[in-house]
Amino acid sequence: MITVRTIQELRSQIAGMKKQISKPEVTVGFVPTMGYLHEGHASLMKQARNKTDIVVLSIFVNPIQFGPNEDFESYPRDEKRDLAVAEKEGVDIVFIPSVKEMYPQPTKTTIKVAGLTERLCGASRPGHFDGVTTVVAKLFNIVQPDFAFFGMKDAQQVAVLSQMVADLNMPVTIVPCPIMREDDGLALSSRNVYLSSEERSQALCLSRSLSLAEKASKERPDITIGELRSLVTAEIKKSPVAVIDYVEILTFPGLQPVHEEQKLTDLEDVIVALAVKFGKTRLIDNHRLQKVKVVSHV
Ligand code: AMP
Repeated sequence: MITVRTIQELRSQIAGMKKQISKPEVTVGFVPTMGYLHEGHASLMKQARNKTDIVVLSIFVNPIQFGPNEDFESYPRDEKRDLAVAEKEGVDIVFIPSVKEMYPQPTKTTIKVAGLTERLCGASRPGHFDGVTTVVAKLFNIVQPDFAFFGMKDAQQVAVLSQMVADLNMPVTIVPCPIMREDDGLALSSRNVYLSSEERSQALCLSRSLSLAEKASKERPDITIGELRSLVTAEIKKSPVAVIDYVEILTFPGLQPVHEEQKLTDLEDVIVALAVKFGKTRLIDNHRLQKVKVVSHV
């Protein structure tokens, strides 16, 4: 595994590796992260390793996707441990640029995906998605991957980036990967380290509420969106320290709101998306309620 810190070196290493592999079409798989790697990130690296010839991982805490009062400075970092995780997952190249390398001067160009970034985390974190789309577009131009792997933990990010790639004809396929959870249901996140043990146990209300939604969707397919939302909200509110930022049920991947009176049976796939604060830590989680496709075996 090679670690590189400059764009120039990254490009020359990828070109060199491509030449070494004697295949007509060598594919590059890319996993962009902010580091402090866990099993969620590892699952993306595994998928990349299975699907592509050269696996590039980036570790970059991107300042332009953090708001002024957010945790850019204190975001957890542990390069040594991250490199060990990447090595174990068979990553070929780890790209760890400095802020200066990525932004030698403040960027005058930003990418904005309208329509998908106003709700959910876009509403609570103004400018966040412009920062994400801009850095991911830069990273795509730097790495030029054939496939890029993103976790459904950040479902809105998957929807926004898929739209960006389609709109701008970027020659890369976005591969959405399932949410990895602890055994007790808590979705893995680098920010889980901020939680006190009390907050951590209270945070289990997120996955519990999503399981309730899944169960209700199977047992009562004619449940309304309003009823589903109340069910989820009530479960989260059982936790005394949980402060709800949003509990939303939207279409996926269109992220359009659905009327509270509408029945689940009348809708295509929807996503139940949550953002909830536990103390100073804001956690997100979601679950996609997928329609059971009726297959006839005639
Ligand atoms: P981050 O380092 O938080 O920016 O995340 C980098 C990538 O890892 C993103 O595509 C995330 O969606 C993905 N990711 C983070 N947590 C998880 C998880 N629990 N399961 C699957 N993917 C995840």
